[in-house]
Amino acid sequence: VNTIPTIAIIGAGASGTLLAVQLAAQSTHPLHIALFDASGAFARGVAYGTHDPSHLLNVTANRMGAFEDRSDDFYRWLLAHEAQWRSLHAAFAALKVTPTSFMPRMIYGTYLESLLQAAQTNKQARIERVKAEVTDAEATSQSIILTLVDGAKREADRLALAIGNLPAHPFGFTKTLSHSDRYIGHIWSPPQNSVLSRTDFRDDDTPVFIIGTGLTTIDAVVSLRAKGYKGRIIAVSRHGLLPQPHMLPIASYPRFLPPEHAPRTALELIRAIREEVTRAQKEGTDWRSVIDTLRADTPALWRQLSEEERRKLLRVLSYWSTHRHRMPQESAAMIAGEVNTGTLEIIAGSIRHIEESEARLIVQVRLRESGEVRSIEAGHVLNCSGPDTNIARSANALLLNLYKQGIIEQGPLAMGIAVSDDYSVKGNAAGRVFALGPLLAGERLETIAMPEIRAQAANAAHTLLSSL
Ligand SMILES: Cc1cc2nc3c(=O)[nH]c(=O)nc-3n(C[C@H](O)[C@H](O)[C@H](O)COP(=O)(O)OP(=O)(O)OC[C@H]3O[C@@H](n4cnc5c(N)ncnc54)[C@H](O)[C@@H]3O)c2cc1C
Repeated sequence: VNTIPTIAIIGAGASGTLLAVQLAAQSTHPLHIALFDASGAFARGVAYGTHDPSHLLNVTANRMGAFEDRSDDFYRWLLAHEAQWRSLHAAFAALKVTPTSFMPRMIYGTYLESLLQAAQTNKQARIERVKAEVTDAEATSQSIILTLVDGAKREADRLALAIGNLPAHPFGFTKTLSHSDRYIGHIWSPPQNSVLSRTDFRDDDTPVFIIGTGLTTIDAVVSLRAKGYKGRIIAVSRHGLLPQPHMLPIASYPRFLPPEHAPRTALELIRAIREEVTRAQKEGTDWRSVIDTLRADTPALWRQLSEEERRKLLRVLSYWSTHRHRMPQESAAMIAGEVNTGTLEIIAGSIRHIEESEARLIVQVRLRESGEVRSIEAGHVLNCSGPDTNIARSANALLLNLYKQGIIEQGPLAMGIAVSDDYSVKGNAAGRVFALGPLLAGERLETIAMPEIRAQAANAAHTLLSSL
């Protein structure tokens, strides 16, 4: 009889990796941790599995540490392992490193990998890496039986979902394009073969059309240029807003909206934030400091709103996101240059239709201002519209199967999954299935980036171990 408990973690991106690291560090009894990843990008996942050296972190080095009480751990690692990361790519040889540098994401993946490797030397907890997609899981009275894509079964006592960033929303107008290699529905799939490493765009001077104008679009533009594409790029989103640039140094700002005293309507919340920004600016403090201070309180502020008020808040989410999810100044300068010279055009509008016609894609966009429909010829269309958080229509087989069985439920506003404060997943296997990371979008709103994930990993590990 095997008395060593097994915790299966699905997904070995930053969330699954840090959970494994925390479980190993916190366990006081022998433990088996089975870490599954379909892509094999262990310790990297979607964000840090990129092979493009020009893809930068959007958080400064001194704040990307994997541990809440040592947020400068990544910066210290950079200093201590310079020879190792500089040798990863020729572009890194002369890279300047300061605490506030926006480092390449590839290097961050190596940092996470070093943490996972160190955790694998733990005598008490054995971490097993399994490169396989988990397609289903069944909760019996004794255990949780996982089904892998090749039909193999694996048994575990607890299951942790660290599935991360889900693919972009498959729009109705892209259905007819699913077989066209001119339409790229998910640019990170899988990261190693991402469209962003393709070079066949280079010789086509027809515009590349991008759905979305957020951080993924910035990555796409940077990569297309790095790969030698010289044609025009046209990007569309409903409001046509690009991420705001970072501005450093960023001063700390006192907490101003403690949830217990905060308003409970979307309108009043937005008003309170606007007033605070105005007040701060009058005192010479940049708005970014105000926005960043709000981050720690966001989950609680969100949770205490009614569903109706959360829905109202979502309507201004794209505006909020451009201020909250900012781009490094280097990227901002490049994008501004492109916009000024017209090589990158940003449109506010909505796509009505896309069809393939004679080696071209014809995109019909209704312009936000005039209401007119503009027809655009594109060589390729990239969907960079952000993750589709609705699990009921998920392309991820495991999520869909768990949902059908009632092991997971939809989160608030059909965003992600429903999870209790202790990371236990709501559903018919509650207490045995846990989740962290981007899947908690509906519960917390602020849950996708490192500062949140490292805290979740430490806390979820504690609850998981206590549940055994
Ligand atoms: C392009 C990009 C850039 C980002 N940059 C930053 C940044 O600079 N700073 C920051 O703080 N945050 C950044 N983020 C936010 C990011 O969400 C987190 O930092 C972090 O990478 C999330 O990790 P994760 O493990 O939750 O998800 P993911 O990285 O998406 O990893 C999930 C993993 O689960 C695997 N998986 C999914 N389903 C299955 C299955 N059924 N079976 C087996 N394996 C499965 C996938 O293969 C994947 O490897 C960025 C996000 C993106 C997309």
